[in-house]
Amino acid sequence: MLESHKEATVVDRILHVNSTSIGNWDWSRPPSGRAMDELTEINNLITSVNISDCPDSWKFSLDTSGIFTTSTMSNLINTLKYGTNSRNLSLPRNKYVPQKVFIFSWRVVQQKIPVRSELDKKGIDLHTILCPLCEHHIETTEHALVNCQKVSSIWTQILDWWNQNSINISNINEAIITDQGFTHNSIGLSLWQATKWIACYIIWKHRNLMIFSGKIWNPTAIISEIQTQSFSWISNRSRKKVPIEWHQWLLNPSFYVASPSNRIGVG
Ligand SMILES: [Zn+2]
Repeated sequence: MLESHKEATVVDRILHVNSTSIGNWDWSRPPSGRAMDELTEINNLITSVNISDCPDSWKFSLDTSGIFTTSTMSNLINTLKYGTNSRNLSLPRNKYVPQKVFIFSWRVVQQKIPVRSELDKKGIDLHTILCPLCEHHIETTEHALVNCQKVSSIWTQILDWWNQNSINISNINEAIITDQGFTHNSIGLSLWQATKWIACYIIWKHRNLMIFSGKIWNPTAIISEIQTQSFSWISNRSRKKVPIEWHQWLLNPSFYVASPSNRIGVG
């Protein structure tokens, strides 16, 4: 408060003379009382540290490197929010999806997405706990993402798209965790799982757009977004010896995993 030039930097005020640091102060009035105590304290601090000749710079104090990165920040937030580093969450990671989709899938498994039945359990007063899509059943996580008739028709089309008509998606376990389909093929399993996670993520997004932004529930548009978004995220995360082609992805994505000899360099 007593500094005459508020924009002064450390190097303006601390002089190095024969490896000794000397205060080069410029006060608006002479310090006295508590300000004098603070000055003594800062002088003691200065004599106990080795001040470099480098220019002043900002340091990110939450990481030992001192450098701010979004991934460090994101890991810190996840650690604080979920009590553990998200890399160690119980759900195995899938490298074809962005972190936000992985976190969403983890929250689904933990029953931590804010469907009406969960909000009601937390004592939040809602005028109804019925599903906003069908208005016939209580909105649980499983109902919202899998069993609602307005959602299950989307899953039927996704199974058609992937030529996986022999399997069923009838609960959260089958949508997020279990290894149905492509059990012989780990890349196929990862791509199929990534698609299912992205489908859940986009279904939830459209449920929210309908409730909070008044958008009309449009299954054709939702399927189309699942196809384009999964293509974008997955193809960007695949090794591209032979890239995933959009038309082939749209026509039959299991083309990329059908052969155990792994006809293309996905993965
Ligand atoms: Zn419903």
